[in-house]
Amino acid sequence: MHKLLLALFFTSFSLHFINAQQPQKPTASEIHQNIKKLNFLGSVLYLAAHPDDENTRLISYMANHVHARTAYLSLTRGDGGQNLIGPEIRELLGVIRTQELLTARAIDGGEQRFTRANDFGYSKHPDETLAIWNKDQVLSDVVLAIRQFKPDIIINRFDHRSPGTTHGHHTTSAMLSVEAFDITNDSSKFPEQLQTTSVWQPKRLFFNTSWWFYGSQEKFDKADKSNLLAVDIGTYYPTIGLSNTEIASLSRSQHKSQGFGNTGTRGTQQEYVELLKGDMPADKTNIFDGINTTWSRVKGGQAIGDILYQVEESFDFTNPSASIPELMKAYKLIQSLEDNHWKTLKSEEIKNIIAACSGLYLEAVAETNHATPGETINLNIEAINRSPIAMTLKQYNTGIVAVSKNMTLGNNINLAFQETLKISNSQNVTTPYWLTEKGSLGMYRVENPALIGKPETPRIFNVTFDLIIENTPVSFTKPIVYKTNDPVKGEVYKPFEIIPEASAKITEKVIIFENNNSKDIPVVVKAGRDNLQGTVTLAYPNEWKISPKNQDIHITNKGETQTVIFTVTPPKNQNEGLISPIVTVNGKSYTKELIDIDYDHIPFQTVLLPSESKIVRLDIKKMGQNIGYIEGAGDVVPESLQQIGYNVTTIAPENISPETLSHFDAIVVGIRAYNTVETLKFKQQILFDYIKNGGTMVVQYNTSHRLKTEQLAPYDLELSRDRVTDEFADVKFLNPKHPVLNYPNKITETDFEGWTQERGLYFPHKWDKAFTPILSMHDKGESAKKGSLLVAQYGNGYYIYTGLSFFREFPAGVSGAYRLFANMLSIGKTTQPLND
Ligand SMILES: [Zn+2]
Repeated sequence: MHKLLLALFFTSFSLHFINAQQPQKPTASEIHQNIKKLNFLGSVLYLAAHPDDENTRLISYMANHVHARTAYLSLTRGDGGQNLIGPEIRELLGVIRTQELLTARAIDGGEQRFTRANDFGYSKHPDETLAIWNKDQVLSDVVLAIRQFKPDIIINRFDHRSPGTTHGHHTTSAMLSVEAFDITNDSSKFPEQLQTTSVWQPKRLFFNTSWWFYGSQEKFDKADKSNLLAVDIGTYYPTIGLSNTEIASLSRSQHKSQGFGNTGTRGTQQEYVELLKGDMPADKTNIFDGINTTWSRVKGGQAIGDILYQVEESFDFTNPSASIPELMKAYKLIQSLEDNHWKTLKSEEIKNIIAACSGLYLEAVAETNHATPGETINLNIEAINRSPIAMTLKQYNTGIVAVSKNMTLGNNINLAFQETLKISNSQNVTTPYWLTEKGSLGMYRVENPALIGKPETPRIFNVTFDLIIENTPVSFTKPIVYKTNDPVKGEVYKPFEIIPEASAKITEKVIIFENNNSKDIPVVVKAGRDNLQGTVTLAYPNEWKISPKNQDIHITNKGETQTVIFTVTPPKNQNEGLISPIVTVNGKSYTKELIDIDYDHIPFQTVLLPSESKIVRLDIKKMGQNIGYIEGAGDVVPESLQQIGYNVTTIAPENISPETLSHFDAIVVGIRAYNTVETLKFKQQILFDYIKNGGTMVVQYNTSHRLKTEQLAPYDLELSRDRVTDEFADVKFLNPKHPVLNYPNKITETDFEGWTQERGLYFPHKWDKAFTPILSMHDKGESAKKGSLLVAQYGNGYYIYTGLSFFREFPAGVSGAYRLFANMLSIGKTTQPLND
């Protein structure tokens, strides 16, 4: 079992594959680079908290210049971030960012690992982080990563000694790394891991410092550097035609969901690491100095090295296959190594090199990318040797049948075979393994310990090709893939996945009922196979009514959908709960939603999540009807206001004029509008005049950095970085009698229950006395922050500035946030409220 459970993720260097889905087809210079890596027996683990924290310059340098086996351990998958390329947020964004990291590593030559920690949102301090993460589990996962990967060197991205100076996740990652370094070799720590791996002691621990951590370049220049090592990561690779820093930029640019496109630089550049633990190398430009990284470090390795160093030396760039006889000799010797760790790693590496040297191409293509349990699939199998090396295809094994062939693989002669693959009725569906069970706010739940740390769910369906090369048996295992021709993109690959025969979704994730009226809710059922017949019902809270009780579905073709409508009637009083569709087919129930994630820069992803939507009956009164919305960096506030019955019109900034504004009861400005919309600085006076004439203007948060105008408000107002990240933080009413807390909705403490992610951010910290601060709140151990909601009368109207996170609370269906916002929009109105 030991061997099986080792994480088998090998990244060989290959820059020219531009599409993450396609198989790697390395050039001669890339093969030579991989032979150099084969001959370097040392490893580096880079450690931080999020996708994008990693220093791709240093990772690329370690993988491509030093030739070390290099991995990035990101504690989280980055679910908490924002998505610049599509609608996916939370766990779906985590799936995208996982794949972006894998694509980045395929470019810079590193490997990728994770822990079970969830990126739950911003925290100011490691104490706050560790109150939400399960410290023991995350530490256990860091220890496991070290025991499995067995790094000689660990490099932390962040400083474990400066809590509070950066994101709490960052500091925590460094603190856990320091703690893990001292216990990974102790068999009494996390002993359950030792059933599948062994203890390990890394030799050195570094912190990847830079001037940034010193406050300025000047301070860094003056600092004592006796404990630092400096490496020139600007090195140029002539056989690739790129500088290391250019490769690093190509890698970093894969973080597309975060908009981290990066332009390459050239020329010498120093990167610094500070020694935290272990002995200081004599050569302070080489982090491996004094560590044996040759084949002689492995028992029985010397003889292998004697062959492979010669292969590296005499490699023929015009005829890589000339190296195969010697590579096969080394391959045989590797098979007799006692050390399982090195045997497994180096076997896989050398096999990939042998295949690349011979132009060996082995592929198993399914006729579809989605199959269901019980289905039979046709497979097209291709095997070709594009070298004069003698090879025989002995047999291939689909995991269900082994088919004996005993056919010669002649030079450049294509062999093609057809097989069928019967998927078992009890086959599990494929989905990211960390999303199959419901986790906590801070942790993913992973039932199978063998999966912990893996970047993605291992492929279930593979074809193993048993070959004879130079009279020696060698097996290659290839995942079954789906391949199609796209008229525009050309060859497109997708993973082959198992989906349920039925899935269902409700498009709106939060449905707000602002009065007693029923709403028609469409449920979309998707067939995973042809001829799907069944019924759909909805699970719903007791106080609500649903009709009809069930609906029949009949879908003729696989992949097609059918929409059925249910009428949902809310209770009379404020209430919330979940509705979830259940599709019943032949006595089996299906409750999941199937989500496809399709972007060009990452492989196609299929994710199954529980299908559910939140339904909220609000007890809400409103004044005014017509809202003008000026968009900022993007939020769903307009849609949310529409859900509670307002007419919302988006006003293009260039159309802001006294005439347009006069149609609206209130104007709302989207998040970070004054950071992102240049035109607004010319329109402020028009907006202020609108207020003066009796209008209401609500401005949501902006950051103090890079404001397009100093004149945010008709009065002095100064933004700060004050934020309250604890969504449970107590809220005090500074002005309990103020209309915004009383009319038309009476706001109480209850309205601040159930908030998500945070209270708010970038609150002003100084304001003109015309403003009335309404609320006070603060994170643990901090002073009271009173700038979250500021109201000022100006002329006959009102100006309101708020850093409260309405943009996060609305999509989560938080009742109190809606009620408070309705009061803000109603301020100054004296007629009878609507929707009593
Ligand atoms: Zn980060």
